[in-house]
Formats: sequence, C-alpha cells, structure tokens
Amino acid sequence: MTILKGIRPVDAPATATGRGRIVFSSSVTPTRATGTTAITREGSLFSAFTSAVNGVAAALFATLFPADCRLCGNPLRNVSRLPVCNECLAAMRPVAGARCSVCGERLDGPYRLSSGNGDALCGLCRRLEPPFVKAAAYGSYEGGLRELIHLLKYDQVRPAANVLGRMLAEAVSDLQPLFSDRMALVVPVPLYVGRFRQRGFNQAELIARSGLKILSATSLELRPHLLQRTRETRSQIGLSRHQRRENVRGAFAVTEGTEVDGREILLVDDVFTTGTTVSECARVLRRAGAAKVFVATVARTLKAEAEFAKLPADATEEVALAAHG
Ligand SMILES: [Zn+2]
Ligand SMILES: [Zn+2]
Repeated sequence: MTILKGIRPVDAPATATGRGRIVFSSSVTPTRATGTTAITREGSLFSAFTSAVNGVAAALFATLFPADCRLCGNPLRNVSRLPVCNECLAAMRPVAGARCSVCGERLDGPYRLSSGNGDALCGLCRRLEPPFVKAAAYGSYEGGLRELIHLLKYDQVRPAANVLGRMLAEAVSDLQPLFSDRMALVVPVPLYVGRFRQRGFNQAELIARSGLKILSATSLELRPHLLQRTRETRSQIGLSRHQRRENVRGAFAVTEGTEVDGREILLVDDVFTTGTTVSECARVLRRAGAAKVFVATVARTLKAEAEFAKLPADATEEVALAAHG
C-alpha cells in the first residue's frame, strides 16, 4: 500500500511547537484589557522564538546523538517527531486474505459461510447480526501496529496519531462506497471523563481528526461529542463474550438524539477487539434513530492462522467463538 510512502520526517518540529504556543497564549486572554493582551502577545512571540531556538537545538542534538526506534531499538537515521524507524512503519501492512464481509474477521476456507447474497460471513455475524452495517480495519492488532497504538495511548506519543490516521483513512475508503450521498457523521468512541482527564486526549478522536484531513471533508463531518461514555468500564481483557457485553451495557448515551435521527454514522476507534464496544455504541445510536452505523478502526484482532491450522476440524468453530469472546 502506498500510504506509508508519504511518511517523512518532520524537519521543523520547533515551528509547530512555537505556533501551538502562540495560539494557546492568545486564546486564554481574549477578553482581557488591551495592555494585558499586548504583554501576552509579546510573551508569545518570545516563547515562539525561544522554542524555535530550542527546536533547532533539539534537531541538532538528535543529529549528533540520534535516538533509537521505540519499536525495534535500531538507531533512527532521520529527525522525526515520531520515534519509529521507516522499516518498522513499512512492516505494518494491511490485512490480506478472505474476510467476513460484515465484521472483517479472518475466514478459513472450509468454515466460510455465506449470506443470502453470496457475501462471505463468519459464523458469529450469521447468528448475531451486528447492529452495524460493516466494520473495516486497516491491519491486524499485533506486532508493530499494536506497539504503535500503545505508543499513542500509553506513552502519549501524539505524532503516532498521524500515521494511524492515514491507516484509518484507508479503512474508511473501503466503507465510503456504501455511504449515501448525504454527509455521514464521524463519531469517535468516547472515553469516560475520568480516563480522558488522565490521558489528556481521546486517541480515537485524534486518529479520526488526522484521518479526516486525508479523506474528502465534503462527505464526512466529525462530531466528537455526539456520543458520551456515562460510566467507567473495566478492562475487557480476560472477560467472556457475555461478561464483555454486560461490562459495556448502558455505558454509552447519545447527547443530541435529534442530530442522529435518520443519519448515517461512522464510528471510529483505535482497535476492534471483539466488537462488543462498537456494537454497544452502534446499538445506542440506532436506538436514537441513526439510519445506519459503519465502523472503522486502525487495527483488528484476528484469529491466529497458525493456531487454527493445528487444531482438529471440529474444534475450529469453538476457537472462532473464543476469539470473538
Ligand atoms: Zn524500528
Ligand atoms: Zn463476521
């Protein structure tokens, strides 16, 4: 795929930082007296200047004392805001092979099932009929892609959102032919307010924002506050499918029902693990009147091919369920 070819080192991080500070400084004092504003503006220019100098120093430092790639540990040859080498980025490939036409799960030949119109469906989608039309993901949630998502979420490496946004844009472009002519509303899966404050950002929203810069802005409108997480949910790791559903049930609410009524919604998240979270969001949106809900994520947990191949034929369906659960 071509998206990663466009990734190049950002050679002027100082400019970006400086600009950000000017915006921040001037925006905090919009209603103050002129004298105060003037002082603030001077302060901003000064801080822009010093951060530019600091940025040049940082770039020089990085050249003289290069950092290591946060994924593979090899030295970085380019100065970049994202501490990941080009080889690691290039290794994050889109998922290939047969996939479920609804949820995107990997399909294995003899266990492939078909819907009435001949589209391939996994056993789970055939039985449960998800509340979303289709879920698309760029890559498998493993290896470098998993680590890149963790860099953003847990290490606060925000420039990772730009690369993840490009990947999301690819997943969205798979869905776009299914959208109607009317503008679809893009809704990132929200964090609970406590988690949001702790992290300082919602990774799904950052990824959606950077993805939308690439996609046609005329057909997609970002609405980050249409959906709200009304309570904290515990980690889904280690829970059964039933427990996961119970864990997220009632945890989301639509803030402006009239805005959703009759609209097509594109739900965005970083990872699709079992689909329990996005299914609950989609259910709530549909109940508020959304005409259709689509799901786009950067990554998706997929059935392990190797593990699958080792098992006897009659055990594979159970594994498929366990992988979903
Ligand atoms: Zn690397
Ligand atoms: Zn499926």
